[in-house]
Amino acid sequence: METPDFTEARYRVLLETARLRFRFRQFDDDLSGDDIALWRHDIDFSPHRALALAKLEAEAGVTASYFVLIGSPFYNPFEIAVVAILREIAALGHRIGLHYDAEAFAGSTVQHEERIAAQAALLSRETGALVPFFSIHNPSVSPDVRLDAPRHGGLVNASAPALRAQFTYVSDSNGRWRHGSLDEVVGDAMISRLYALTHPEWWTTEPLTPSKRVQRCIDGRARRVAAEYRSFLLRHRPEVVDVE
Ligand SMILES: [Zn+2]
Repeated sequence: METPDFTEARYRVLLETARLRFRFRQFDDDLSGDDIALWRHDIDFSPHRALALAKLEAEAGVTASYFVLIGSPFYNPFEIAVVAILREIAALGHRIGLHYDAEAFAGSTVQHEERIAAQAALLSRETGALVPFFSIHNPSVSPDVRLDAPRHGGLVNASAPALRAQFTYVSDSNGRWRHGSLDEVVGDAMISRLYALTHPEWWTTEPLTPSKRVQRCIDGRARRVAAEYRSFLLRHRPEVVDVE
């Protein structure tokens, strides 16, 4: 089934409505008062999609926070091109956070507090941005890990249940709306404190099913790796390049 409301065109409309109703806040801001929105993006698959949304938000005059995974099978945050993307997102006025994958260390004796602090420091060093907050990747697959406090490893916990409970919360996890849709809550005058979690890879130029949106990220990465390899060979070993 196609899901037409996850298009860039729809996202522009959502932003325009939200911008008029809410003041956009960051996770380390004072979060008291009404008419405020937290606008969080967890980058699970595609920094390229994240940059596309970051540009739309900058055009609308709003700022969001982008949470970056270390150890994703879909992207490497320290790849030259991806570092450049993360720096560009920060330069647009958005904030960078750590998207923490506790499952990667399941069963080990790792100290999550130290790991969160170390990953955030590395991400900050490479992107040149402050990384003062984190969110948890796939919390349901690591039920034994309890990271529910307002801060861990010195970082603000954007996934803290007590924080979420202070807001109306919506999420587009797995390419579907959970807890209601963003359209509904952005247009609902009764809602004065909004926490929106979206994943940039779900938002594309054309309507696609969730699995096709993920495949789009995989294909895009494969094409970029192939182009990178071909470019390297053309520069250094042109005699071995296939003639197309
Ligand atoms: Zn995630």
